[in-house]
Amino acid sequence: MQVYQAAERDLPSLVADDSWSAMPGHPVDPALPPAVILDVDETTISNAKFQIAFERPMEQWKLEKWNDEHISDPVPGVVRFVNAAQAAGVTVFFVTNRPCDNRDNGPDPCPQKKDTVRDIGELGISTDEDHVLLAGENGWDRAKIARRKFVAETHRVIMIFGDDLGDFAPCVRISLYGPCTAPASKESRAQLVWEHQELWGRGWYILPGPMHGSWTSFR
Ligand SMILES: [Mg+2]
Repeated sequence: MQVYQAAERDLPSLVADDSWSAMPGHPVDPALPPAVILDVDETTISNAKFQIAFERPMEQWKLEKWNDEHISDPVPGVVRFVNAAQAAGVTVFFVTNRPCDNRDNGPDPCPQKKDTVRDIGELGISTDEDHVLLAGENGWDRAKIARRKFVAETHRVIMIFGDDLGDFAPCVRISLYGPCTAPASKESRAQLVWEHQELWGRGWYILPGPMHGSWTSFR
């Protein structure tokens, strides 16, 4: 709630400042309409109940089955923030690494997209398939930078929300995705955090994920 309420206070000034962008290094077009990008799991939807209940090891189908059988829980504060952003004329995009997987061998190559729109809708947030971008769609990999740039082609991205460093900056993992040429390390991750210190708390809003995320490879 602290994160989302602080973000709601920042909203009017970041909407009004048409030179502002939360995408470092990306050219700002002041004519573009403002948008915010939120991660889904542990940023918008809380999977805390699933995390407590599921039988280890983690497999994606277990979360999908849980989501089919339960109404999603919001991360506290997110519904009010998204409603405030939309009321202020800000477009809300969800960028998630829920993978596209044709689990049923049906005609839909990515049933997870409809499921994710449904799960977000269960929170009382209005969205649709054009605003929910999954890993594996359109050739997008798990590095979210390509999807952030896709949004930035049509919108001025004023805020980013996530529970993982990878929701904000590329090249935070050992495995190589997108623009990354070397595996991340504790030191390179710390450098990314410090390089962007001006953005934390104004433009970039993190809800640090204590249960899972890219950090678990670097303990
Ligand atoms: Mg997440």
